[in-house]
Amino acid sequence: MLNGDIGPIVSSMTSPAEETLDTLVLVLDEIRLGRSRSRSELASRTGLSRAVIAQRVGELVDRGLVIEGDPGPSTGGRPARQLAFHAVAGHVLVADLGATSIDVAVTGLDGRILAHRDEPADIGDGPERCLARVEELFEQLTSTTRGLPGQVWGVGIGVPGPVEFRTGRPISPPIMPGWDGYPLRERFAAHYDAPVWVDNDVNILALGEWRSGVAVGHDNVVVIKIGTGIGAGIISDGRLHRGAQGSAGDVGHIQVVDDAAVICRCGNIGCLEALAGGAALARDGEAAARAGRSERLASALDQHGRVTAEDVARAASFGDPLAVALLQAAGRRVGLMLASVVNFFNPSLIVIGGGVAQSGDTLLAAIREAVYRRSLPLATRELLIQRSSLGGLAGVIGASAMVVDQLFSREPMSRWLAVGGPAGMPEVALAAAG
Ligand SMILES: [Zn+2]
Repeated sequence: MLNGDIGPIVSSMTSPAEETLDTLVLVLDEIRLGRSRSRSELASRTGLSRAVIAQRVGELVDRGLVIEGDPGPSTGGRPARQLAFHAVAGHVLVADLGATSIDVAVTGLDGRILAHRDEPADIGDGPERCLARVEELFEQLTSTTRGLPGQVWGVGIGVPGPVEFRTGRPISPPIMPGWDGYPLRERFAAHYDAPVWVDNDVNILALGEWRSGVAVGHDNVVVIKIGTGIGAGIISDGRLHRGAQGSAGDVGHIQVVDDAAVICRCGNIGCLEALAGGAALARDGEAAARAGRSERLASALDQHGRVTAEDVARAASFGDPLAVALLQAAGRRVGLMLASVVNFFNPSLIVIGGGVAQSGDTLLAAIREAVYRRSLPLATRELLIQRSSLGGLAGVIGASAMVVDQLFSREPMSRWLAVGGPAGMPEVALAAAG
């Protein structure tokens, strides 16, 4: 077997040992993502020789990352031994922080949710209060989950604002007062002694839908989240596109009108999200309720003292004409922006997610109509526009996928393989390419 082979793999840049690591990652990806379940499937899918596959599988089994099951059904020759990812070698802690909620989960290394909890929260309370609560919830989950597998192999955090992925720090987030430059990675790394990755909530949502939701099997996808604001996650050519600094997909701040009265929370005028985001829908819905232009919204205002974007969506699903008109106008604006994105990027799928998109079809219909009307025919010939399928769980599923994809990517893996696992190695996160 190849035990003792790891030293040269780590230190060498050009020798054949480099190829050993590349093929090890390739073979593990095939197995852990469920694409190959036997040595013969590995051979036909990767094009590697049977000898190389035997060596890599042997090493992964030795290292406890792959397990060999019973022989599968015989097809005449010697029955093939089934290969499976050892998803319980460790566990992952994830949190998806929204503007008004906290979602936490503990997952296996395959992204399966072992325990989950969510509760209302206010991101404006600042990092100390919000993150102390996340740590309390992690503690509750890990102390009450029976048979928690292994040690903490990684921590994944999503936040509702721009994140510099390399450092894991929020950068000038408009709705997160007190969070600018906050060292989330360092805080969680010190607490859990494991690698930590942080990204914005929309990239996390996109990863979740791509790994386990409606976007499975698509290589070019735009995932739009219409929450309090508006953002996009981009899957390009089979990988999440974060851009040079991590701010790719910030479509909410594309200028769509030249009107000095439309002031965005980012400080600019005429931004899409100042007209069509959840906060804008809530503002316009509340104004209509106060002006007596919608009975349903007026009763929502009476009941809880304010109107939310979800109230508008719900009122529209009951046919309230004012709410329908608000959602149609918002959908049209989002759709026109998306038509430009479609012409520019040519995705095969657009996923619409976020709280507003979950209730009723009015918004989705208006988005579809605008995109198909304004995009080039070649770009829309096979284009699908669908609603997010994972609902509230997409964030934690995506945060887990982010952590595991980073852990099992080339550079991080080259650091922790030699010692068996990434627990106790927070510095592994610094090796990630992004
Ligand atoms: Zn803006």
